[in-house]
Amino acid sequence: MQDDAYLKCIDPNCGLEYPITNTNVQCEKGHLLDVKYKNKPSTDLKEIFYKRRNPQGNIFNESGVWRFRELLNFCQIDTENIEECSKYLVSLDGAEGRLSKPYRMSKAAELIGMSNDNLWLQPEGYNPSGSFKDNGMATAVTHAKMIGAKKIVCASTGNTSAAAGMFAANEGINCDVYIPAGQIAPGKLSQAYQYGSQILEVDGNFDDALKQSLDDAQNHGGYTVNSINPFRIEGQKTIPIRALEYLDWEAPDWIVYPGGALGNTSSCGKALMELYDWGWIKKIPRIAVINSEGASTLSDLYNGKFESEELRWNKGKPNTELISRYYDHLDKEGLRPKTKATAIQIGRPANILKGLRALEFTNGVVTTVTDSEMLDGMSVVGLNGFDCEMASGASLLESKN
Ligand SMILES: [Zn+2]
Repeated sequence: MQDDAYLKCIDPNCGLEYPITNTNVQCEKGHLLDVKYKNKPSTDLKEIFYKRRNPQGNIFNESGVWRFRELLNFCQIDTENIEECSKYLVSLDGAEGRLSKPYRMSKAAELIGMSNDNLWLQPEGYNPSGSFKDNGMATAVTHAKMIGAKKIVCASTGNTSAAAGMFAANEGINCDVYIPAGQIAPGKLSQAYQYGSQILEVDGNFDDALKQSLDDAQNHGGYTVNSINPFRIEGQKTIPIRALEYLDWEAPDWIVYPGGALGNTSSCGKALMELYDWGWIKKIPRIAVINSEGASTLSDLYNGKFESEELRWNKGKPNTELISRYYDHLDKEGLRPKTKATAIQIGRPANILKGLRALEFTNGVVTTVTDSEMLDGMSVVGLNGFDCEMASGASLLESKN
């Protein structure tokens, strides 16, 4: 092993560092952590990644996550050594991210009045468990395996539990899933059962389920695989990395994401910060985050709709008191996140600070869409022959504005 990867607190005024084998998802002062790399990956790897599109029987080249393993080599292995890859890297036979790349969808472009040449959509539903979560779960379970975890734990509205259960089953690790009673996408939950996960119902919403799962991890030796786990973010970076690679590393003007717990916003931001710092991209695309109107925490705070202050990362000094007061206000008024798009029905985005950091780096924007707009987006993607989850319909509808 080389001494390259470590964990570092995201708060620049704290900056506590931990060895890569650390399993706490926060620093001891309660801030989120980043996986950091000391060495800059050489841009010569661009050609190696391209060549790996012809995987030649290597499942780690076939995988849309591990094809880029040098950019997320927190296991610090010899990435060309197939035995080392097999020993460390968790993969469902190279299926995670394998079919994911940007596509043109003419009917989708037409709906929002954009030229078909200017719009790409990247379906992430063709992952083995059926959602984008497989990207980050492959890496989180890799870390869990690296430190010898016996049980992984998550809260889920559906997608996370399917991905976690699948990789855990394949690795022979137990998986506990905390779900908000009655608020789950039924198909996704049945997958978790199928993979042999233990399902625990929690009275309340996703935010309550997450709290219980974190208590379980802390007190009963579980390993948390929700997106506050910094290793989830590493795998999820490969979503924008794949897009950029397909665009020959020419960054688009905008990258648009639905916003829930803000794991995607955070991971896209981290990928862009790293690629820019490493000299892999010359332009920084702007991130647009789309909340549901019924679960609009980030939009409310970012756009100054609460106490008239526009919440910003502010170079590492965000007004966290404002966030606390907003959450108190939600509790006091009995306001619960409410949208049919359960994947983004989240009132307290666990990655809000990393999300804000990403928005600041990319000069991003945040806005909202209605449930019916999301359904329109979802339907038109279907008319192009692609499957689309309701929350993802948000990205399309907002691209027109
Ligand atoms: Zn800290």
